[in-house]
Amino acid sequence: MKAIVVREFGGPEVLKLEEVPTPRPAAGQVLVRIHAAGVNPYDTYMRNGTYAIKPPLPYTPGSDAAGVVEAVGEGVTQVKPGDRVYTAKTLTGAYAEYALALESQVHPLPAKITFAQGAGVWVPYGTAYYALYQRTKARASETLLVHGASGGVGIAAVQMARAMGMTVLGTAGTNKGLELVKREGAHYVFDHTKPDYGEQIMKTTGGLGVHLILEMLANVNLGHDLKLLAIHGRVVVIGSRGEVTISPRDIMSRRGSILGFSLWAITEAEEKEIHAGIFVGLENGTQRPVVGKEFPLAEAPRAHKEVLERGAFGKIVLIP
Ligand code: NAP
Repeated sequence: MKAIVVREFGGPEVLKLEEVPTPRPAAGQVLVRIHAAGVNPYDTYMRNGTYAIKPPLPYTPGSDAAGVVEAVGEGVTQVKPGDRVYTAKTLTGAYAEYALALESQVHPLPAKITFAQGAGVWVPYGTAYYALYQRTKARASETLLVHGASGGVGIAAVQMARAMGMTVLGTAGTNKGLELVKREGAHYVFDHTKPDYGEQIMKTTGGLGVHLILEMLANVNLGHDLKLLAIHGRVVVIGSRGEVTISPRDIMSRRGSILGFSLWAITEAEEKEIHAGIFVGLENGTQRPVVGKEFPLAEAPRAHKEVLERGAFGKIVLIP
């Protein structure tokens, strides 16, 4: 089969398309024929060798894919050959024509969700679900700012929060992104490249501030976020690419909180709940992954470059 193989950590050019043996499922394992693989920002940090998780070399990147079960190992009962599935992590990597996964890493993909959309399910929707339902226990009627709403996690959070009955404010850095965020459910949108968007957000909340912020770029925004919080407001740090200065008094005066998490560290029980919540959302149409760009597998280097550039529009996926 063809697969992207990383033999040394480095820039996008270390992602090489190679011919490798197609894996076979052992007991408890599932072989998935991949129809689409999702590109997440963490894939690029891991490829650089700068991420908290450093895989042994060589490795094939990717946790998020969608496809059809090709074969199952002994003892597998939850899926059978021919089933449409999405993956939440794999054993051999998603940037490939086939991937081996544990039975617990494959999940049913509702018929109305395309494979390309299915490749944008696990990390984006798992993260948004964990942030809203589990980490912060967000509630209907609360005001939410999705700071960086035009990308994978942001779109998922906007859709979920809208379906929960929250008032949703979302930011993007391009007109196309702003239109997308509005279309996917935000009540109000703001351009995070404009100098006065913080003031506009305060004005929109009648000067009260927002109850909850999901922050995609904390190293740039955390200090400003604290000034946008309502009393008892909380900020959840989802993404950050460096250090930041904050004024602790901004939290004190608002009795606010800064929360964080990593999707890698969630428990088995939390993950089970997430997949159940995602399945029903995909099925009832409240969760609708948006695919902005599709590239052939060989163009993984380009996908890694573009996923870090401005102008996000949902997900970038690779088609093997
Ligand atoms: P993505 O699809 O690349 O989207 C990035 C988002 O950040 C876009 O909406 C982009 O908007 C926005 N952005 C760019 N500059 C910004 C600014 N100055 N202020 C606010 N937002 C800005 O990435 P993603 O998959 O949604 O992931 C977002 C971040 O969360 C990444 O850093 C990722 O590594 C992290 N993450 C963490 C976890 C976890 O477990 N904690 C899980 C998933 C993702 P424009 O392009 O429109 O400007």
